[in-house]
Amino acid sequence: MTGTLSFEPDDRFNAFLTTCRKVSHGSGRLAGIPVAVKDNISTQGIETTCASKILKGYIPPYDAHVVRLLKEAGAAIVGKTNMDEFGMGTTTENSAFGPTLNPLDTSRVPGGSSGGSAAAIAAGMVPMALGTDTGGSIRCPAAFCGIVGLKPSYGRVSRYGLIAYANSLEQIGPMAKTVTDVSTLYSVIAGHDPRDSTSYDRSYNHIPSVEIKGLKIGIPQEYFGKGVDPAVGNVVQKAIGTLEQLGATTIPCTIPSMEYALAAYYVICTSEASSNLARFDGVRYGPAADVKKSWHDAYRDVRRAGFGEEVRRRIMLGTFALSSGYYGKYYAKAQVARENVRADFSRIFSKVDVIAGPTMPTTAFRLKEKSDPLSMYLSDILTVPANLAGIPSISVPCGKVAGMPVGLQIMGRHFDDERVIDVAYAYEQAVRA
Ligand code: GLN
Repeated sequence: MTGTLSFEPDDRFNAFLTTCRKVSHGSGRLAGIPVAVKDNISTQGIETTCASKILKGYIPPYDAHVVRLLKEAGAAIVGKTNMDEFGMGTTTENSAFGPTLNPLDTSRVPGGSSGGSAAAIAAGMVPMALGTDTGGSIRCPAAFCGIVGLKPSYGRVSRYGLIAYANSLEQIGPMAKTVTDVSTLYSVIAGHDPRDSTSYDRSYNHIPSVEIKGLKIGIPQEYFGKGVDPAVGNVVQKAIGTLEQLGATTIPCTIPSMEYALAAYYVICTSEASSNLARFDGVRYGPAADVKKSWHDAYRDVRRAGFGEEVRRRIMLGTFALSSGYYGKYYAKAQVARENVRADFSRIFSKVDVIAGPTMPTTAFRLKEKSDPLSMYLSDILTVPANLAGIPSISVPCGKVAGMPVGLQIMGRHFDDERVIDVAYAYEQAVRA
């Protein structure tokens, strides 16, 4: 059965950049379910801006692969969610169209960069949404808004139609209130797509199981160390205790490469961004380029007006890191550090099944609390290792500190997404009231 749905949310939190009032839906696994889509994922006929002025007015002529799959599953795509411009940020404050507010406390950020998707779910506007995660952008807002978010293994979801920020790091993934809904949405979007050369032939047809007896969980000391709020650490330790009661055993471990992981991440993501964002010239959409000026002047003016401060900073950092003479000093070194992160994970995963720790070092910040870029970057320390290694990672709510939610992060071996989902499910079911 196909039908139409009216969607007129009371968007007090600025979660949506675009809403579709009359939405059609079909039959299938998501028949009639309203789904929100992050605004960096192309939707045919629906404006897609990446929360940037440079893409204002851009209406994609085609659907991203995941959007096509949502439609085939009968979902109703009800709108495009707010985000940090091009995915660059941890709070959704870097949107050119105003920040999203955290529905649990509007003086706080929802996390980012998929903050609009998380807030729309937390506020009950939609049951599920798509986000993207380059260095934590699904898991961070999931943790800050008290919902579930999965960053799939690199290669399990097609990136065709995702407007790229940093290709080697990012994945599209499901966000919802429960692990079951995350699992259902994941089963729709995972699988091979010949239009993304990094996508693998691994579909996801899994029903979450609570059976985790005998599971070995690695607990990295770095995830409870310097920079992590001890109150957050305590809540997460308690959650790990619950997993032990369910029959899991914990094994302490260390990830020495974490010392360089964040720096490596910021060299790699800015380098890739500087190259990906070079195509935006304001000629076909966005702020109109002055064609009477020389190409150089027109390109400079339009990009200065069209990109926000953080995006310009990252383009400059990335261009610098890739420039001849500095390439070996920054980019090549970052790739070595990335390899060390991978090696640390494979060493640990030869002894344990999953790794657990907090998703974020703190709970949600107040709006404008992080005013300098560096302290903002530091808050990504616990999420970027999974992107550098390409492994699956889920954030599941596990309690609160001073009224704000805390996320338990569970990482797994590459392509072992089913397992991290099971551990999150087992936890969620055990603590369900
Ligand atoms: N906060 C990180 C960054 O700014 C991660 C963003 C993301 O995952 N898109 O790059």
